[in-house]
Amino acid sequence: MLQRTTVRALESWTEGRWWSADEPGATVHDAVTGEEVVTVSSAGLDAAAAVAYARDVGGPALRRSTFPQRAATVKALALALKERREELVELSARTGATPADASVDVDGAIGTALVFASKAKTLPDANVLPEGDVEPLGRGGTFAGRHLLTPLTGVAVEINAFNFPVWGMLEKLAPALIAGVPSIVKPATPTAYVAEHAVRIMAESGLLPEGAVQLVSGGVGDLLDHLGGQDLLSFTGSATTAARLRGHEAVTARSLRFNAEADSLNGTVLGPDATPGTEELDLFADAVVHEMTCKAGQRCTAIRRVLVPEARLDEVAGAIAERLARVVVGAPGAEGVTMGALAGQAQREEVLAAVGRLRAAATVVTGGAAPAEAVGADPRTGAFVAPTLLRADDADRAEVHTVEAFGPVATLLGYRDTAHAVDLLARGGGSLVASVVSRDPDVVRELVTGAAPHHGRVLVLDRDSAGESTGHGTPMPQLVHGGPGRAGGGEEEGGLRAVAHHLQRTAVQGSPRVLELFG
Ligand code: NAP
Repeated sequence: MLQRTTVRALESWTEGRWWSADEPGATVHDAVTGEEVVTVSSAGLDAAAAVAYARDVGGPALRRSTFPQRAATVKALALALKERREELVELSARTGATPADASVDVDGAIGTALVFASKAKTLPDANVLPEGDVEPLGRGGTFAGRHLLTPLTGVAVEINAFNFPVWGMLEKLAPALIAGVPSIVKPATPTAYVAEHAVRIMAESGLLPEGAVQLVSGGVGDLLDHLGGQDLLSFTGSATTAARLRGHEAVTARSLRFNAEADSLNGTVLGPDATPGTEELDLFADAVVHEMTCKAGQRCTAIRRVLVPEARLDEVAGAIAERLARVVVGAPGAEGVTMGALAGQAQREEVLAAVGRLRAAATVVTGGAAPAEAVGADPRTGAFVAPTLLRADDADRAEVHTVEAFGPVATLLGYRDTAHAVDLLARGGGSLVASVVSRDPDVVRELVTGAAPHHGRVLVLDRDSAGESTGHGTPMPQLVHGGPGRAGGGEEEGGLRAVAHHLQRTAVQGSPRVLELFG
């Protein structure tokens, strides 16, 4: 059993040693009981030394091995995490996550790392990766060119959101390790103790080359001031923080490689063909409820806008509300509980405030507040919010396309025709994912092609794929995750693209004999 009562200062892991600040910093509370869990601070941490350690020790140590060798290390790290997954699941309960929620984070992280490792094991046994064909550049065949990818020699700083302390870390860390670039990981404060434990497991495995991974628990301080053109900053979090980081001199003046995964008002569309009695209508209602309640709606990819043909609003509202009535809110692991708590009281306040803003344009079908009861917990001390379905009579109101309630909250909107549905999806200003629930080829073609420019991923759900579908909210490591505009304009995952993101593409020109030197 992990210790559940001691309040300790969360440690950082830099320059090969565990370290904690002298001052206590922020106190993180258990999302369910309100007890203090850890204090988090990085005050006094020498960020410049951590960056130098990554560049001078971690990078060279990593690049002494090759792409497939590092892929094997990532696989072994994933298996080391798998071995001790129960510790992470148990700890995640303190963040409000049910065992199923924790599995999305922990097992999702392990699976993601394994996919990257598997894809990378076939890469050349080298640190140079040729890309594409050799391009002849002269008539006589003596001069040609080719793109070569080589690891950046700096450090990848990875700033993560609170909702996926393990997956968010691994989906960035694994490709960086495979690429041969050391990482400095900075988890979000509210759930940093889960990320710290995952780093501890990896450190204790003895698999990591010295300096390949460092952890900053607490604020980044002046870390970004020490970054430049060979470094990367991969960010996941709110659009507000993304905008702040994008404006940093390291990005604007020194061309740090910056990637942002920000917030998103993802939509799902019920096709006009999914009439009562069709399997698609049930699939749609089930998917909406799953997305609203999985991780208590704290997924960047969760469905926020539920688009249905105008004439069907009542019927669909009823189908979703009926399913939501069966959701049991309470302490993770308590008998019968199907939805846990938000990560903390601050998140609960933010979600309820966002619901308040949405109510300027929408009415409450169900929920809208903290639940009166929570199984196995006190609903006043736990950060619970009842699953909340709203309904906007005017689907074009700005609020429903701009206010992200990062919790178990979605808004029903009626659309007139498929062109209107496409327009409503686009009004999210750029989203991570949209889904279309329809079996009509014309509807699917129009909605997918209309939605695609505004989304990083589009999922089509019908009775044919339902059995195997991974669902609206789950990004797959084989495919890109990210989205234009408000969603951050970035791209992560996507199989080996995630590794290539950490490599410099260089056009090398010379004779065919010279180009052959590089594989
Ligand atoms: P957040 O407040 O923006 O924080 C995200 C991360 O940035 C945290 O690690 C935070 O650290 C750090 N941070 C905050 N201010 C910073 C600064 N000035 N300089 C450097 N780092 C800074 O977001 P959040 O509340 O953790 O996460 C919720 C949001 O993330 C939601 O809007 C959600 O949609 C979005 N999200 C997006 C994705 C995606 O893949 N697109 C995935 C998950 C979540 P501290 O916690 O220590 O302040």
